[in-house]
Amino acid sequence: MTLLIEPGQHVMLHLYDATKPFTPFYYTDDTIQFLIRLYHTGKFSTYLRNAKIGERIRVRGPYGNFKYKHNSFQNIIMFSMGSGITAMYPISKSIIDNELEETRIHFIGCFLNILQIPLKKELQILSDYWNFKCALYISELQNEVHDLHGINIKPGRLNKESVHQILEGNMNNTTLILICGSNEFNKSVEQWAREMNYKHINVFE
Ligand SMILES: Cc1cc2nc3c(=O)[nH]c(=O)nc-3n(C[C@H](O)[C@H](O)[C@H](O)COP(=O)(O)OP(=O)(O)OC[C@H]3O[C@@H](n4cnc5c(N)ncnc54)[C@H](O)[C@@H]3O)c2cc1C
Repeated sequence: MTLLIEPGQHVMLHLYDATKPFTPFYYTDDTIQFLIRLYHTGKFSTYLRNAKIGERIRVRGPYGNFKYKHNSFQNIIMFSMGSGITAMYPISKSIIDNELEETRIHFIGCFLNILQIPLKKELQILSDYWNFKCALYISELQNEVHDLHGINIKPGRLNKESVHQILEGNMNNTTLILICGSNEFNKSVEQWAREMNYKHINVFE
């Protein structure tokens, strides 16, 4: 069996009578890994929390029309919130792993606190490359000690002013904007980007 999944695509996971979309963040020809946030009262979350090892989860897909052509943009700016990072990580990794790529990535992640940030090590490894820059907005940042060197930690929520600042230094015709978060997050960030005449925008929803 070979998994034919493009970075940024998602699959449908089916457990008992629940089917929900999830984005594999790592896969090889015979393994597939997901990063799944478990909600207290969520249907799929509850099923998954109580599932026993060996239970069958059906996978259908892949789905999603996003296709990235190598070197097609000078810059990619990624805005993600919470588990939306799962859509951005495989795209970033495939660009960084391709030594012919000259595209620069600016990854912006939004989280509640430092503890809730998944893939910290992976983001730090990507940040060691010349073409990957990472900033994380932490809405409830405490006076905590963290070892996230290479990553720019910003206190507070991402807002219109910060999005405008991030986009200011870029050319809107050679920059691709990717957005993945809650409906409200997606709508706001897309609107703020359009206000600055950015047209190459893809929202994962
Ligand atoms: C393209 C795509 C890719 C995705 N990829 C990922 C991924 O890689 N990882 C990931 O974690 N998620 C991902 N998601 C989200 C995921 O599909 C699920 O929506 C999410 O996990 C919640 O599913 P659930 O059935 O557990 O919760 P749901 O039952 O759908 O509940 C969602 C929210 O509503 C609340 N809620 C549920 N029932 C009630 C109630 N009775 N009253 C009030 N509130 C309630 C829950 O607490 C939760 O906050 C993706 C979504 C999309 C669209």
